[in-house]
Amino acid sequence: MVEFKHVTVPEGEKIEIDQQAGKIVVPDNPIIPYIRGDGIGPEVTAAARQIIDAAVAKVYGGRRSISWMEVYAGEVAREVYGEGLSDEDLQSMDAEKVRGIYLPKETLEAIKHFVVAIKGPLTTPVAGGFRSLNVGLRQMLDLYANVRPIFYIKGVPSPVRHPEKMNMVLFRENTEDVYAGIEWPRGSEEARKLIHYLQEEFGVKIREDSGIGIKPISEFGTKRLVRKAILYALEKGRKSVTLVHKGNIMKYTEGAFRDWGYELTREEFGDVIITEAELWEKYNGEVPDGKIVIKDRIADNMLQQLLTRPNEYDVLALPNLNGDYLSDAAAAQVGGLGIAPGGNIGDFIAVFEPIHGTAPKYTGQNKVNPTAEILSGCMMLEYLGWDEASTAIKNAIEKTIAQKVVTYDLARQLGGIDPVSTSEYAAAIIKNL
Ligand code: NAP
Repeated sequence: MVEFKHVTVPEGEKIEIDQQAGKIVVPDNPIIPYIRGDGIGPEVTAAARQIIDAAVAKVYGGRRSISWMEVYAGEVAREVYGEGLSDEDLQSMDAEKVRGIYLPKETLEAIKHFVVAIKGPLTTPVAGGFRSLNVGLRQMLDLYANVRPIFYIKGVPSPVRHPEKMNMVLFRENTEDVYAGIEWPRGSEEARKLIHYLQEEFGVKIREDSGIGIKPISEFGTKRLVRKAILYALEKGRKSVTLVHKGNIMKYTEGAFRDWGYELTREEFGDVIITEAELWEKYNGEVPDGKIVIKDRIADNMLQQLLTRPNEYDVLALPNLNGDYLSDAAAAQVGGLGIAPGGNIGDFIAVFEPIHGTAPKYTGQNKVNPTAEILSGCMMLEYLGWDEASTAIKNAIEKTIAQKVVTYDLARQLGGIDPVSTSEYAAAIIKNL
């Protein structure tokens, strides 16, 4: 058994990785690390864990259970790993050290070791000057696919007339693009040097008072992301994978994303993939069983299509920045942040988390909507292969919302309904399981 300094390992078994078969092997009582999160994190993660436990117990009749193991990140990690350090102490430390306190090595090692984890949202501390704990976690564990299912739950208020037409899964590249963090402020030595270099070497003119950011998109990063999206589509019987890009303008990054995506489908999935042209020429517009249509759309057009023809799209693969914009826009169509789940998935390691942040103004009020965290738990259950428990939870959520038992955010939109608290909502879901 592995030894940790501050993490207590519960009874239970470790999820194993079968490299040859390319899959995880899940015991009946897996140890799952969780990060409770900052702000509203502890409230929503507590609700999610209770509901997951109740669903697993009910569906598998005691044959399966989860051994939760708390690992620390964010404010609680500072209490555990930075005990006694004042704000001034932290301000004077270098960025790496501060990160090691808010996102301890032990936490990363525990997640790597136990393979699958779930987390609440985290605040990025002001001290240290690093970008974001979440981005750090994704990069350090190489969780290269940010997976966001966007589907409609009956009864949820929506700004569009037919929210039920949306049922997509977005695979957003998580490690590259302008989010790689390669950027320098206006007037910095690095920005000045780069501007000078570009001018001298390539005759490119950039204004002296510019900040500079770099947008790397690689063949390797693109192909592993698109591969994951296609494998998912095949496994789940989805009908199409759409490459979303802005390749008409950014030809060698976004355009290359499209080209490498198509190349990969020819190299690795030639027997199952059909093009949009073939779909009409050979199959009269009907996707045959076992086949997947591969198509591409320019990002601005895709934003329109989300609104006008959402039912024509299924799985989307996107570079980082497009993926960020599009997934929030799509989530808004089916009810918004309080119910939008997500997962960060690498080759095997996966960390599930809601899309929303720590909503600090609601901290400790037992008020916010835990559905996004609960549905992130459903994604986790599906990743474990425990789909029955996930389905039971989704059905119970739908039933609870149909009974108009909802938290403030949905009550506000539905109008004329008294909201329930986070814990009352969770209790109602458990009752409806
Ligand atoms: P936010 O925390 O997502 O909150 C923005 C607003 O969204 C809230 O004020 C609330 O709207 C609504 N909302 C969010 N979660 C909700 C829930 N569970 N139930 C009901 N309503 C919910 O975004 P933010 O204020 O921009 O960010 C706050 C902090 O979170 C920042 O430090 C940011 O870095 C961090 N963050 C972390 C993650 C992550 O850990 N993955 C992701 C995003 C942001 P109303 O005020 O209208 O009620």
